[in-house]
Amino acid sequence: MNTLLLSSSKEDIKTAAQFIKDGSIVGMPTETVYGLAADALNGGAVKKIFLAKRRPMDNPLIVHISEIEDIERFNLVSDFPVKAKALAQHFWPGPLTIIMNKSDIIPDEVSAGLSTVAIRLPSHRVARELIKASGTVLAAPSANRSGSPSPTTAQHVMNDLSGDISAVVDGGMCDVGLESTVITLATKTPRLLRPGLVTVEEIEKVIGKIDVDHAVLFKLESDQKVSSPGMKYKHYAPKAKVVLLNGESEKFISFVNNAFEKDNTVGVICYDEDVESVNAKTIPIGKTDDLQTQAHLLFDALRQVDELDCFTTVYAHCPVKTGVGMALYNRLIRAASFEVIDLE
Ligand code: AMP
Ligand code: MG
Repeated sequence: MNTLLLSSSKEDIKTAAQFIKDGSIVGMPTETVYGLAADALNGGAVKKIFLAKRRPMDNPLIVHISEIEDIERFNLVSDFPVKAKALAQHFWPGPLTIIMNKSDIIPDEVSAGLSTVAIRLPSHRVARELIKASGTVLAAPSANRSGSPSPTTAQHVMNDLSGDISAVVDGGMCDVGLESTVITLATKTPRLLRPGLVTVEEIEKVIGKIDVDHAVLFKLESDQKVSSPGMKYKHYAPKAKVVLLNGESEKFISFVNNAFEKDNTVGVICYDEDVESVNAKTIPIGKTDDLQTQAHLLFDALRQVDELDCFTTVYAHCPVKTGVGMALYNRLIRAASFEVIDLE
């Protein structure tokens, strides 16, 4: 299949919407990462997403809506809890996904057989226009090949999926750069299943205390039950081995310089301030305290590791585990297969 690279003009969005209406799948920009979209109410179309991504069929998808009213208009949930409404009003449009009990209209392909559905209202103009023009709601996981870093540019999507999908709409580089925060309200106490730009602290200001699922920060043991199927799969990993270093800047620099002296295939993902002191090739992801820029650049950095194709091991700072740092840590620890060296 020839994959069209479309612009974000009205005309091109109409072309993309026609693909969706015809039951085909299309790469779509959102403010978090690029999504691979299909008509969420058409199980056959949704199945194509799993095939193109080679995504395990038991990993459910997020349904994207263009306005809050879509939840009732399309009858997506069996109930819309008060706390979910409060979160929606506070954080939508934006990078927060809310899980609720689903209605019968949600195909099994979307919910992967669960009794719940994940819903998000993105803030990206092009995403919302595409959803509206399609006249439906869109199931869309990240538009990468399963396991590889999520795509934050249209070119990343083309690199992974060209030939397997009908089109990609180019809406520029994603602002946020990490996937949405995922919270379930289908449990007694709301529970964070995936951290993102919307932080635990911000959510608790709106709905009070929430739980953080153990798998957000810790490795799942093989016999542990998962709250979100996505948690059990390998994620975000480039081909080179990634190792996190936990410690202050000076120790980080001296460790990576030592490692590079012994092995010149070592690379470093680091903060801007480190670049001058590190002897190995660096991929900077923003200033030490600028977590938003680090989120924005992280997946592109992990993809550069593959594109440069000259590293066997790449070292990165171990982020803090609070605020936006929790999201960075959650992605990096998976990219590193949970390997952390403590320098303190
Ligand atoms: P992706 O869109 O690729 O970022 O993946 C969506 C994430 O949301 C995956 O980690 C899924 O496991 C999770 N997810 C989607 N729907 C549900 C649901 N109904 N219950 C729990 N987790 C979900
Ligand atoms: Mg994904």
